[in-house]
Amino acid sequence: MSAAAAALSACCALALGASGVAAAAANAASANTLQVAGATVHVDFEPKEFTGGAAPLLEWVRRSASIVASYYGRFPATPLELRLQPQSGAGVQGGKTFAAHGAFIEVRVGREVSPAQLTNDWVLVHEMTHLALPDSGDEHTWLSEGVATYVEGIARVQAGNRTESDVWAEELRSMPRGLPQEGDAGLDHTHTWGRTYWGGAMFCLLADVDIRERTHLRFGLQDALRAVLRASGGLQADWPIAQVLRTGDAAVGTRSLEDLYARMRDMPMAPDLTGLWQRLGVVRDGDSVRLFDEAPLAAVRHAIMTPR
Ligand SMILES: [Zn+2]
Repeated sequence: MSAAAAALSACCALALGASGVAAAAANAASANTLQVAGATVHVDFEPKEFTGGAAPLLEWVRRSASIVASYYGRFPATPLELRLQPQSGAGVQGGKTFAAHGAFIEVRVGREVSPAQLTNDWVLVHEMTHLALPDSGDEHTWLSEGVATYVEGIARVQAGNRTESDVWAEELRSMPRGLPQEGDAGLDHTHTWGRTYWGGAMFCLLADVDIRERTHLRFGLQDALRAVLRASGGLQADWPIAQVLRTGDAAVGTRSLEDLYARMRDMPMAPDLTGLWQRLGVVRDGDSVRLFDEAPLAAVRHAIMTPR
């Protein structure tokens, strides 16, 4: 891997040797090009803009890409262009993902971002997760945002980058925002922030639990999402939502995704989240949670968080 990258950069520097400017540009590009899990990631940024320099940022990109690659069995897009836009202040401040002209992610990063903020960042994993699902239209943004919201926490737990209790505590706290409010319709018709991000994540959790129960823990949503990526190539494909769900269901041998969509697309279906947490063995304890292995669905909870 590194030998191939070195050979490539030596070749390019040689070919462009006549022009000092071009050679410098090629060197800068190769220094910011990462090979992660078989994918090439070009990181477009100016190290001088950030007080910590290049190394912590490149490590963060590599770690985030590796987390997503492990969840999906491979990194969802190659090559990926990743632009880091310097902002005032600290922290990772938000991102956007595009696929119209190749995979492209833009992330807004504070100039004073700290190593701890990069280690605990969710934004880049969320954006990279978007690369793995076909575009099924604006009406179904809840699915792409829901998958990215749901997968981010689980993928990071599986990679050892976040604790399981932290993810369940966040779901206990935030998933009720995805429940239908007074006057709301189904997921295809009410496009509020809560219904889009946490309503979509709720769809994913319900589907994940259902697939694992129906297949006696053999498969989960992770297997369905991997199959959708394999068949579609990810975000650069335009697929009707029915094809996405049918492909996921076929891979795990259930109708979990299609049945759940039929119940949630038009009608404001409100699942019993409190009962679900109890069955999973997740109990609120102040700002955190305690996890109980005696609960009826404790094995499902374990399976969700265990790397494939
Ligand atoms: Zn998103």
